[in-house]
Amino acid sequence: MDHVKGLKCVLCGAEYSTDDILYVCPKHGSEGIVDVIYDYDLIGRRLTKEKLVACRDYSIWRYIDLLPLADSSLIPPLQVGWTPLYKADRLAERIGLSHVWIKDDGRNPTASFKDRASAVGVAKARELGREIITAASTGNAASSLAGLAASVGIETYIFVPETAPQAKIAQLLVFGAHVIMVRGTYDQAFDLCLQASEEYGWYSRNTAYNPYLSEGKKTAALEVCEQLGWQAPDKIFVSVGDGCIIGGLWKGLKDLQALGFIDRLPQLIGVQAEGSAVLAEAWERSSEEIKPIVPDTLADSISVGIPRDRIKALRAVRETEGEYVTVSDEEILDAMLVLARSAAVFAEPAGATGYAGLAKMAREGRIDPSERVVVLVTGNGLKDVKSAIQATGAPHLIEPSMDDLKRLMETQL
Ligand SMILES: *Cc1c(COP(=O)(O)O)cnc(C)c1O
Ligand SMILES: [Zn+2]
Repeated sequence: MDHVKGLKCVLCGAEYSTDDILYVCPKHGSEGIVDVIYDYDLIGRRLTKEKLVACRDYSIWRYIDLLPLADSSLIPPLQVGWTPLYKADRLAERIGLSHVWIKDDGRNPTASFKDRASAVGVAKARELGREIITAASTGNAASSLAGLAASVGIETYIFVPETAPQAKIAQLLVFGAHVIMVRGTYDQAFDLCLQASEEYGWYSRNTAYNPYLSEGKKTAALEVCEQLGWQAPDKIFVSVGDGCIIGGLWKGLKDLQALGFIDRLPQLIGVQAEGSAVLAEAWERSSEEIKPIVPDTLADSISVGIPRDRIKALRAVRETEGEYVTVSDEEILDAMLVLARSAAVFAEPAGATGYAGLAKMAREGRIDPSERVVVLVTGNGLKDVKSAIQATGAPHLIEPSMDDLKRLMETQL
């Protein structure tokens, strides 16, 4: 890993070598998230735009020169990343804009953005010779880890809150994870998982704890810029729970800027559910201190009372001159329908939340119609069909008779 200079604590700035620490800054415990520092001069000699044009690896591994791995033979075989970026003209028109793209990360192997992080986490575990990985998750990080681990025969212990949607639990069970369902919130499951990882020595795939996961997440930003021919968009909208995705996007954008691939950073717009808006609230106060809450939103993947990656998530927005926006559950359900009907992308509630934020800002006249906007869809709608049917209402039900059909056609359709 000659391209990795070390790890730097986001709180105190202390630097460590990758051999010194496994996860967080020892001075700050689980608060002391560290960031991977690269040697961009060296990377710049290895990774060029021309090399990417010729690269036939359409997955996150096309950016291996920018990922913190020593041995590319250990990367898992599933196809992660290089998800489609659709120009969504009908959707754009609906909200009075001209240039809107949807990046559909529901197209990853386990149907969420989290595969980007799990792929790097699993590769790292293999590099370190670890045979068991653990994670706590509202659902997607877990199902993603279970899938990526199954692809290389690594064992997983997964902590999920009792309230996780069935489809996500089904994924865990099918991939053969040891599933530990916790009678409590995601935040409680997270704390239990950290303790278990210490007690049993399992490798931790916990968000905002293991520094390498964020590096996987940044690949979405690399892809967006490459897919747009290195013309960075003006704004990127993304849903925010723990804040790792938005922090990861920021890292990817800074990487590209350091390499001279893009000349300015897009504004990052973090979208939170009103009932789980701890970061939006801290951003309003211009503070990096959060006030934990008991979250309440149907968007389970962003239902977080103690955002673990708060520092990066807040700085990502501040330093790109973006903002935080909050949306109601109703607006999220509506966004699911609009995305599906105007762009044919079926998102789970948290997956549609980024778009809900864009629709709201457009409605309030806070986006210039000429701006180039990217919306990340972070998870597939089949993950949570209960919410989808809550948004659509139930279908018509009739007897198998023409009379019944006619009555229905005349009265309701
Ligand atoms: C995890 C997740 C998010 C939020 O990501 P954070 O890093 O927790 O902010 C958003 N949408 C989906 C579908 C997710 O699984
Ligand atoms: Zn520190």
